[in-house]
Order: sequence, then structure tokens, then C-alpha cells
Amino acid sequence: LKDKDLIFVKLGGAAITFKDKPSSANFEVLNQAAKEIAEVFNECNLLIGHGGGSFPHPVAAKYRVQEGLEVCGTEGFAETQRAAREINQLVVKSLQEQNLPAIPIQTSACTLMSNGQIKEMFTKPLEELIKKEMLPVIYGDVAVDTEKGCSIASTEMILRHLSEKLHPKRVIIATDVEGVYTADPKKDPNAELIREISQENLEEVLGMVSGASTTDVTGGMVHKVQSLFNLAKLGAEVEIISLLKPGLLKRSILGENGLGTTIRFK
Ligand code: ADP
Repeated sequence: LKDKDLIFVKLGGAAITFKDKPSSANFEVLNQAAKEIAEVFNECNLLIGHGGGSFPHPVAAKYRVQEGLEVCGTEGFAETQRAAREINQLVVKSLQEQNLPAIPIQTSACTLMSNGQIKEMFTKPLEELIKKEMLPVIYGDVAVDTEKGCSIASTEMILRHLSEKLHPKRVIIATDVEGVYTADPKKDPNAELIREISQENLEEVLGMVSGASTTDVTGGMVHKVQSLFNLAKLGAEVEIISLLKPGLLKRSILGENGLGTTIRFK
């Protein structure tokens, strides 16, 4: 790797798509994120992951893809993959428009699941791309599962798996809210931002956070906090920030903390 920190950035599906409108991308947010990434690309080694939001989630929910291949059928598997790939193409295009050397990595082509968990990922090409100063763009996707036929690999699961192999310094999760709150901030006006999640308050936080407010086949905030805490255990600084506020992503990539919720293992 270039002699620079490795940073993973997740562009959340809730931010880059309109979650209540099937297959609709929020180009304003997406293009702004791409612009900020371009501004700092030379400062670090980057890997982009992104969620699917209103592209694959409604399709996966309709076919009940999480219940496995016998329930969703080959058609459900294929349609969900196509929807995930569609938003990926838009993300890659937006990054390339900023002259970034973005290369899509199709999760379902390099990942084997087992009972809903990632069992194996072939990551050598991705690692080589980073070494060659390219920008791999991986995404939440439906993949072959040795037990269930198929299951969904969420972006958080992917980033966790990649962290075990690549040990990023920072993992930045950018979504449509400023961080993790005591309750869903879209439903509860009294919800308060939780600045830091650590061993000390993890159980308490998990008790407070409810599921994400819209169709989310990957388990919403509880899944996010749990899997991001597991990720922090591997040694990375994990930051959850808002992608809707221009400038935050860039500042976060450059190393600023305290812009949203910090998750650390200690
Ligand atoms: P993404 O698709 O960007 O990964 P999700 O939709 O999975 O994001 O999760 C973000 C959403 O979770 C927010 O839009 C918010 O409405 C909802 N949410 C539910 N509970 C909470 C909470 N306790 N703190 C923050 N957001 C929450």
C-alpha cells in the first residue's frame, strides 16, 4: 500500500437513495460525496462501500430473500442482484465523473455466505487495486449461501470481513442522520445523539435503538451498532456521520473525530 492510512467509507443507502421511493437515487448527495472523496483521494488509501437503499431493499423484501433460495426463488435472487448492481453503477459513475479511478467489485461474485454470515471473500484483486491507487467500490448484495442457498451480505458485514484482512485505520459510515441516537430521530423529537459507544454503554445503546424506519432487510440500527462494534474490536476507529451535511465526509476522512457518533472498543 501507499504509505498512507487505509480508510473505508460507507455511503449509506438511506443517504444516497430516497428510501421511500423505489429505485430512486439522491444524486445531489451522491455527487457531493464523490466530490469530497475526490478532494482527499491523494491523502489516503480508500475503499468505498455502499448500501442499496431503495434499489435492492424493496425487491429483497418482496421476495423474502433473507429466508433463503427456497423461499425467494432464482428469480428473487437474480432481481435483487440486479437492483443492487444498478445503484452500484450510479455510484461508480458519479465517482468517475470526478476523475476518480473507481472500479466496481461485485460482492456476489467474490463472496460465499454461510447461514447469513460471510464465510469467505476473494479479496486479492481488491487489495491489488488499492495498491495500484485505484478506488474499489464494493456494495451490499445478495450472494450464494452454502446453507440457505442465498442470503444478503450487508455493507457493514463486508467492511467487517475486509477489516480482518486489511486492518483499516478508520471506518466511516455516512448515512442520513448525524449518528446513533437514543431513539429513531425521525420518529422521536426527543431523541438525543449518542457521541460515543464503547464497551461501557453498548448494551444500553442496543436496548435503546430500534429498527431502521423504512424497509431494511439487513436489520436497521441494531444490526449496524452491533456489527460496527465488532468492527471496532478489530482496532479501527469507527465513525458514524451524516452524509447530508456537505463537508463532513471530507473532514472525517482527513481524520477529524466527534462529527457524529464514535464507536470504539475499550
Ligand atoms: P443506511 O441505509 O444509510 O445504512 P439505515 O436506513 O439502515 O441507513 O439506517 C439509518 C436510519 O436508521 C435513519 O434514517 C434513522 O431514521 C433510522 N434509525 C432508527 N433508529 C435509529 C437510532 N437509534 N439512531 C439513528 N438512526 C436510527
